[in-house]
Order: sequence, then structure tokens, then C-alpha cells
Amino acid sequence: MKIIDAHSHIDCITHSLQPDVVGTVCCTTDESQWPVLVDMAKQDSKIYASFGVHPWFVESANSDFDKRLEQLLNLDSNYMVGEIGLDKYKPNMDKQIDVFMKQFDVAVKLNRTVCLHCVGAWDKILHILKQYKESSLPIIVAHAFNTNDRVLQQLLRYDNILFSFNKIDVYGRKCCIADIPNNKILVESDGNIDSDLIKIVQLISDIKNDTDMPNIIYKNTQGVIKNG
Ligand SMILES: [Zn+2]
Repeated sequence: MKIIDAHSHIDCITHSLQPDVVGTVCCTTDESQWPVLVDMAKQDSKIYASFGVHPWFVESANSDFDKRLEQLLNLDSNYMVGEIGLDKYKPNMDKQIDVFMKQFDVAVKLNRTVCLHCVGAWDKILHILKQYKESSLPIIVAHAFNTNDRVLQQLLRYDNILFSFNKIDVYGRKCCIADIPNNKILVESDGNIDSDLIKIVQLISDIKNDTDMPNIIYKNTQGVIKNG
């Protein structure tokens, strides 16, 4: 089985831990991690680098961080944007929205995949998405996906929103996975060192009753990382 971890962090590079994992999408959480990840990705071709300021760390965003993000992304057309997003359970929603939108604008402008963190704020994200022409939207990976069916149905209308699942989501959201088209499903460790990605893929194959799912998930992730 070949798996690409669709969402991880710089302190957990899953392909160095599990032989079936042949690549890792590695996200930053704040600007201080950007140069670290640049170096890591240069030294390891299995790391797919994604740069952004996470909604939990928006207070760390310096002025002009979005200009630096754009400059950084211009260095390599495969660089992605993330982890960015909104989180209802963290403070400063106004600042979160501001920081998210500035980064999302850069992703749209450069057509880069977005690694999206959204907790309890899907209505706000949907509202923001509607401000863009649908044809201008980049690929968006909704990581650790978990929401209600009403929101899911709205998100499924977008061809380029994909859904990434980790262990907790797979157990909790069987119906949701069954409702999502095969070509929109990804798997991730979310930076958990003991995450068993093979088992997650197998669980999804069981839910889908489709033995080709490992292949399909692998191809889906290749599409995401080749966006740039
Ligand atoms: Zn994450």
C-alpha cells in the first residue's frame, strides 16, 4: 500500500516512521516555522511543504506576514498554504478571520492548495468562499474533517474541496465518509506520532466497501500536492 499523509506537522514526519507512507504534507503553525520547513523540504523530497499561520497562533502574525508568505510561495510552485483557518473555541475570532482571509487571498492569487483547519466555523468559511468566483478557488483540504450533514452538503457542491480524515474522525463519522465521493477522500496523521495510516485507509475501504480505495486515496493526495 502507498499512502501520502495529507496533513502533518514539522515534529512528526510520518514517512520516516511507516514504510507504506511515501510522503507527508507538512504544515506550519506560525511564521517561525517557515524557514525550518524550507530546509526540511529541501533535504527530503518526500516532504510537501505548506506554509501559513494557524488560527491558534494568529497573535504571532506580524504585520506584512501575508507579503512574506507570498514571497516565500513564489520560491517554489509546489509550496502550499496552511495550516490556516478558523476555530470557534479559540480567542480573537476577528483577528482569526483577518489572518485567514489574507492568507486565503494569497492562495487564490497563486492557485495553491490550502490546508484548512475549521472547528465550529463552517458557516463563516462558506460565507468567505462565496466572495470568490468558484472557478478561481484553489484546491482546499478540509483537515480532520468533522461537521454536520447540512454543512457537508454545501461543501460537496465545490469540486475542489477534499476531506481528510484521521483515526478519530473515521470512527466517529462513518455516515459522513459514506456520503463523500471517493475522489474527495484523503487520510492524515494530524501530526500524531502513533497514527496508523494503513488502518485508517482500511477502515475507509470497509466503510466504502471498495478494495480500490487505497489506490484512489493515494491518487487523490497526488492531485492535491501537484496543484502548484
Ligand atoms: Zn494540523
